[in-house]
Formats: sequence, C-alpha cells, structure tokens
Amino acid sequence: MRSWAILEEELALWRESGRAPVLWWRDDDAAEATPALDRLLALQRTHEVPLALAVVPASATPALAERLAQAPGIDLLQHGYAHTNHAPAGDKKAELGAHRPAMIVLGELGTGRMALERLFGPRALPVLVPPWNRITPGLVPALPEIGYCGLSTFGIRQRVRPVSGLVQVNTHIDLIDWKTRRFAGEEAVLAILATALAAARSTGEPLGLLSHHLAMDEPAWSFLQSLWDMVGNKPGVKIASAHDLFASGEPRA
Ligand SMILES: [Zn+2]
Repeated sequence: MRSWAILEEELALWRESGRAPVLWWRDDDAAEATPALDRLLALQRTHEVPLALAVVPASATPALAERLAQAPGIDLLQHGYAHTNHAPAGDKKAELGAHRPAMIVLGELGTGRMALERLFGPRALPVLVPPWNRITPGLVPALPEIGYCGLSTFGIRQRVRPVSGLVQVNTHIDLIDWKTRRFAGEEAVLAILATALAAARSTGEPLGLLSHHLAMDEPAWSFLQSLWDMVGNKPGVKIASAHDLFASGEPRA
C-alpha cells in the first residue's frame, strides 16, 4: 500500500498548489485485431479515459480498421513505418536512426502516413511515434515539412530540441521492464510516476503512460486497471486526449 501512498502524497501537493497534472495514455504496436487489443479497448471503455494507439502502418490490416471503427474516442498515431530495426547488431534498435539516407526514411514515413489515412481517415493524427522511441535528431526538423504536427518519444522532452511547427508530447512511465519483458512492478512504476509528477510541478510537461497491449502480463493489466480506477475521471488529475495535446500549438507543450 505504501507504493500507492507515494502517488496520493504527490497528488495532494498538486491540489495544494491549486493545479491539476496532465496525464495521457499511449499504447504502442497495434497492427491487427487481436484478443489483447479487445482487452485494451474494453479497459479504455470501462474507465472512459482517452487512449492514443500507435499503429504500425506497414502491417496495419483492414480488420484493425474495422475493429477500431467500433471503438470511437481513440486517437491513432503513426508508429514508424514497418517497425523494422536498421541498426547494426550490437547497437540499440532503431527504424528512424541515422543508418539510412534521410530521403529513404522520410519517404517510408510518407508512405506509412498515406496507408494510415487510407485505413483510418482523419482519426489518424499526423503524429509520429518512432519505434523503440528513437529518432535521429537530424530527421526531426524535416517532420513538419512532410506534414507532421507532432512527435512522441520517451522521457523528458528537452532531449529533442524544439522544432517550430512540431508539438512534442512524450511518454514517461513504461509499464514493462524490457530486460525481463514483464511488468516493471507496482512499486517501481509508482515511484517513477511520482517523481515525474514532482518534476512536472515546475515544468508543466504532460506525463505519458506507455503500455503495450501485445506484451503485457497479468500484473501489468491489473496495474493499469488500478491506476485508471484511482486517477481516471477524478477531480485533481486531467487525463488529456492526444488530439487535444497535439493540437495545442505550443511548440513544446
Ligand atoms: Zn513499438
């Protein structure tokens, strides 16, 4: 119980300051209609919290489009192009790294963008979520030029220099420990969330929760449910939709 108390204490500090933190929820790697996706959508519907689903364009199926057509209120983001690693063995995985000519990478992204528009129409926001949350800084200034209004990676957003015309809204709390591919643990996740909330009291940065419906074990699903039980649609915490966050127009908020 101590772990949830950390969150309560931090939210009390926000209340005292007369403000509400902004949280948002991104789930990655959607491509097909699967039982795990159904579970995610059911959880979203139960808690009525906005969800942004990052879809891999090269493998997104018409069945996914049909399934999502019955799930209004979910924003779709572009998860790279094919979620293919182009980094040499031994390097950190990256699809949007500096390993290939920029023209090739940007061309792929444009193809992916068109594929999402064809499948999902205007629900597919021109927001890029780089696979493995990695993008070489050299590509970022070109993103508004090819039609993107937003970029979402992981960690505090100062890591990527602000670019005019590109809203950066990141995720900060990953439910999975990728070394073990299991739930990172209630205590660890809540400590990261509380620390991020404390930092956001001065930066005002919206905080993103990152889930992966295809990779979550039971403890991760159960935590997600508990978290939205606690903070979803409660006074004192604002859960923002991706379409609101990325339409805000401010370059870094
Ligand atoms: Zn991914």
